[in-house]
Amino acid sequence: MELEDLAASGIVFGPVPSRRLGRSLGVNNIPPKICSYSCVYCQLGRTANIQVTRRRFYNPVDILRKVKSKYENATSQGENIDYITFVPDGEPTLDHRLGETLKLLQSIGPKVGVISNASLISEQSVRDDLARADWVSLKVDAIDKRTWKQINRPHKDLSLAAIQEGILEFANVFRGQLVTETMLVNGVNDTAKQLAQVADFIGRLHPAKAYVSVPTRPPAEKSVQIPSIDTLATAYHVLAEYVSVVEFLIEYEGNEFTFTGDAEENLLSIMSVHPMREDAVDEFLDKAGANKTLIRDLVQRGRLIKLEHAGRMFYMTPIPGRLGKRE
Ligand code: SF4
Repeated sequence: MELEDLAASGIVFGPVPSRRLGRSLGVNNIPPKICSYSCVYCQLGRTANIQVTRRRFYNPVDILRKVKSKYENATSQGENIDYITFVPDGEPTLDHRLGETLKLLQSIGPKVGVISNASLISEQSVRDDLARADWVSLKVDAIDKRTWKQINRPHKDLSLAAIQEGILEFANVFRGQLVTETMLVNGVNDTAKQLAQVADFIGRLHPAKAYVSVPTRPPAEKSVQIPSIDTLATAYHVLAEYVSVVEFLIEYEGNEFTFTGDAEENLLSIMSVHPMREDAVDEFLDKAGANKTLIRDLVQRGRLIKLEHAGRMFYMTPIPGRLGKRE
């Protein structure tokens, strides 16, 4: 494919602020939308072209030229680029020249990351290709077959057991930074039992970070809803039992929190249902005529926990009583 076609297909874009990787130059090595899944929450809509066979898409040298030109253009204007990232407008490992492309792109300078749904990771060639990356994100939305089929709507030839085995194998050998991403959909994969299964599996991978996201953009299916803040808090706590760093990728709703007389009581009740960003807490404390020692004290006493999200700090209440029975 010629460069003009690559540009038209939007194969290289940005730099954009990435919630995970700072300033990122995005690469989409798969024409939209070819995927092995048809996730109910997919912001690209249903997958018309569901595939599991790896094949050739674009020429790696063409991709390199295009990315390099974009990189040089951006850096000459004073832009800093932390990562070149393969993003899933489709499944990047369907490209059987992914490893070759990764190697070429690493010659540009920034680290290279891949966001994959992990569906093809039972194949040795996929693991070998991904192992070349500096950073890999693997999707883990469900552990049981019924939920997996319901949320990811996989190609009929895929086997969940083989995928899980492949993920474990990859985690054992990968020398770069491994993270996981779990999209939570209300009423689909967010029961305490489902969360505990996901957390247990992710814990076995020892990832650098487990990301939890919610469908904040228009999903493929209208029925898809964001879980309640209570459920997200539960998800955080369940995951935090198994994984050392858990981060939410959720959008922020603003700082308008009301003070009604008792700062401590107000903060705890807001944060039992709504994580609060640090600047919102500061604004609230100003309004209440209180200072930051109140928050430090609540954290010290275990009444609040601090979470990092998109480079910002949030506070929320720990709620171990809501974890439900682990099975
Ligand atoms: S894996 Fe990604 S691109 Fe494929 S259907 Fe799911 S959300 Fe969409």
